[in-house]
Amino acid sequence: MGTPLAKRSPAELSGSGAFLEFIAGWHAGLESLNLQADWAAHEISAQHVAVFVVDMVNGFCHAGPLAGGRVQALLAPVRAAITRCHALGVRHFLLPQDTHQPDALEFAQFGTHCVAGHTESETAPELTALPAAADYTVIPKNSLHPAYGTGLEHWLAAHPGVRYFLVIGDCTDLCVYQTAMFLRLAANAAQRECRVVVPESCVQTYDLPVAAAQAIGALPHDGDLLHLVFLYHMALNGIHVVKAVE
Ligand SMILES: [Zn+2]
Repeated sequence: MGTPLAKRSPAELSGSGAFLEFIAGWHAGLESLNLQADWAAHEISAQHVAVFVVDMVNGFCHAGPLAGGRVQALLAPVRAAITRCHALGVRHFLLPQDTHQPDALEFAQFGTHCVAGHTESETAPELTALPAAADYTVIPKNSLHPAYGTGLEHWLAAHPGVRYFLVIGDCTDLCVYQTAMFLRLAANAAQRECRVVVPESCVQTYDLPVAAAQAIGALPHDGDLLHLVFLYHMALNGIHVVKAVE
């Protein structure tokens, strides 16, 4: 074991250079995935597939303290992925969405956002306008996690044939990560075969540079670095990270 990361000086951290270089190379080598070919290779058909559309709500896409351009730019690729899956016959679309209690404990870290009953907690209109919207199941959540205090585990138990999960939305290192890891780890714990796919083009996270964060007394958040590291960490845990799906 080396020195714990938090105890390393900036100079010692440069020792992680080879690793960061490796991740950058891994990222550059990601390839697009043809869904039909992947399903055929794993004996999957559309009824075995669930698409998880995470936190594509007004409060992250359009208006509110946590809305930003990086997530707003996801609307087009997320719409395209939903439309593609719907055209291929997928009818399970699960939408874990921040729908917070007015006094949510999470606000201590992220400020007030997406309160139940407020427009911020509603699905972005670009997604509700799609034909697939008739097959959306919204999963309101009061934390970053899709299953704590929600009905997700009941849904999964009621749909035992569903074993291919496509996870899209925001944020890569927060709710997307929690959702993909939950699906992977729940299957591992139950010895249940499943495939969890995360297409990079359909996930993103926010950016809060050090100077801007210090000016408002918040913790900085390097969007590019954390996006990359958490994609890699998902891959490390058996989640199939690809460049895009087609
Ligand atoms: Zn939240």
